[in-house]
Amino acid sequence: MKVLSVASELYPLIKTGGLADVAGALPLALAKRGVATKTLVPGYPAVMAALREVAIRMSFDDLLGVRADVLEAQVAGLDLLVLDAPALFDRAGGPYVDVHGKDHPDNWRRFAALSLAGARIAAGELPGWQPDLVHVHDWQTGLVPAYMRYSGKPALPSVMTIHNIAFQGNFGGEIFGALGLPAQAMDVEGIEYFGQVSYLKAGIQTAWAVSTVSPSYAEEILTPEFGMGMEGLLNRRIGDLHGIVNGIDTDVWNPQTDPSVSHPFGIDDLEARPLNKRAVEARFGLIEDDGPLFCVISRLTWQKGLDLVADAVDEIVALGGRLAVLGSGDEAIVNALRSAAYRHPGRVGLSVAYDEPLSHLMQAGSDAILIPSRFEPCGLTQLYGLRYGCVPVVSRTGGLNDTVIDASPAALAADAATGISFGPVTLESLKRALRRTVRLYGDRPTWSRIQKQGMTSDVSWENSAALYHKLYSSLLPKGSH
Ligand code: ADP
Repeated sequence: MKVLSVASELYPLIKTGGLADVAGALPLALAKRGVATKTLVPGYPAVMAALREVAIRMSFDDLLGVRADVLEAQVAGLDLLVLDAPALFDRAGGPYVDVHGKDHPDNWRRFAALSLAGARIAAGELPGWQPDLVHVHDWQTGLVPAYMRYSGKPALPSVMTIHNIAFQGNFGGEIFGALGLPAQAMDVEGIEYFGQVSYLKAGIQTAWAVSTVSPSYAEEILTPEFGMGMEGLLNRRIGDLHGIVNGIDTDVWNPQTDPSVSHPFGIDDLEARPLNKRAVEARFGLIEDDGPLFCVISRLTWQKGLDLVADAVDEIVALGGRLAVLGSGDEAIVNALRSAAYRHPGRVGLSVAYDEPLSHLMQAGSDAILIPSRFEPCGLTQLYGLRYGCVPVVSRTGGLNDTVIDASPAALAADAATGISFGPVTLESLKRALRRTVRLYGDRPTWSRIQKQGMTSDVSWENSAALYHKLYSSLLPKGSH
């Protein structure tokens, strides 16, 4: 089976969140099942710099007004197709924002061009390669199935995965004329959304199947509270909606071989973990202590509930705990955490940065990772936590709900507990969860059972890749694969 995946970020080349991890890991897991994926990504500077042997496979003189080439290269075991369009992608800043954190004003054109290139490759224009199916991710690639649908060419199956429905790619209706789609597409049955053009809606409307990254989130987005305006459309497509939880790359995230972990350990030698705890304490300027060390590794945003963590800091310290936070994001949350660190020197540490190696060390050395998200499509940091014996303390929502088993009396009795979960997402309920966590931590044999049960949970891509494979197969003509 040959699959074209189209994604706007891809680990290990360019990453702002979990989407990159999925786009980078799923092709490798599917390859073991005989699915050959080529992934089309934008030629951002970081992507271009990683290319070694490159072949120009196809060129566009006018791709929505710009010149572009499609390059083919292999990077980190992935077959990449890179959309080399300097006018769109060769610029400073992140994949979506400039150096000041502002959205690039032509994002609508950048990702429409990526999508159009994807649709043209899907149509067989890449010499010598015809995919059987197209898999697109999030709003940045939502126009791929729309271009396919409205091209008038023979239909190819497509899957649209929603990694976070809060990001919709809605742009003023005036851009429609520049997208090169027929007038009929600008309709409520097409890509029009309250007078605007919505790239996410385009994908949900026109892809053959829609998936999201956990079964719980697949149910939640059918409701007004979580659907963010897309719930009506999603309810109409309920028969084509799937929830498949993400896995993690268990080779990259292996506490026995991880180069960022100062003292490697496995399930049978958890005694090495406190040495990593010392290393985390040193990195965050915390006092050495055997009390519970909580960590946060996250975008510091309202979605992630980190305003509540800032409000709960005094409670954490009163309980004898310490807190190390790695992240960046909303100024108000950063400031609240900064002032907490100032109030509690040696007990609260903050690093406003994106630091992949440090994130690994923190999972290896902290006792628990706090993830009090208000919504969480899947979440990856709780999966890393499970694998590294860093017990996840999570809100009961989305993928957190599907991947962490709360240490209830019943789950403890059945040796099934892997973390602590709580709801609703309020300060009071978070504080209760913190008190419960500290109590469990004080009961060392129980705590170590929770850690070990977490470390044996299957967080690999195996199961998830099998589910994607099944979904792909269900869309292909019977008997073809
Ligand atoms: P989201 O995609 O909503 O940001 P996820 O939990 O799905 O949340 O994925 C976040 C990813 O980004 C994880 O791999 C996490 O380790 C990583 N991450 C988040 N913030 C940082 C940071 N400041 N430094 C290093 N890694 C980070």
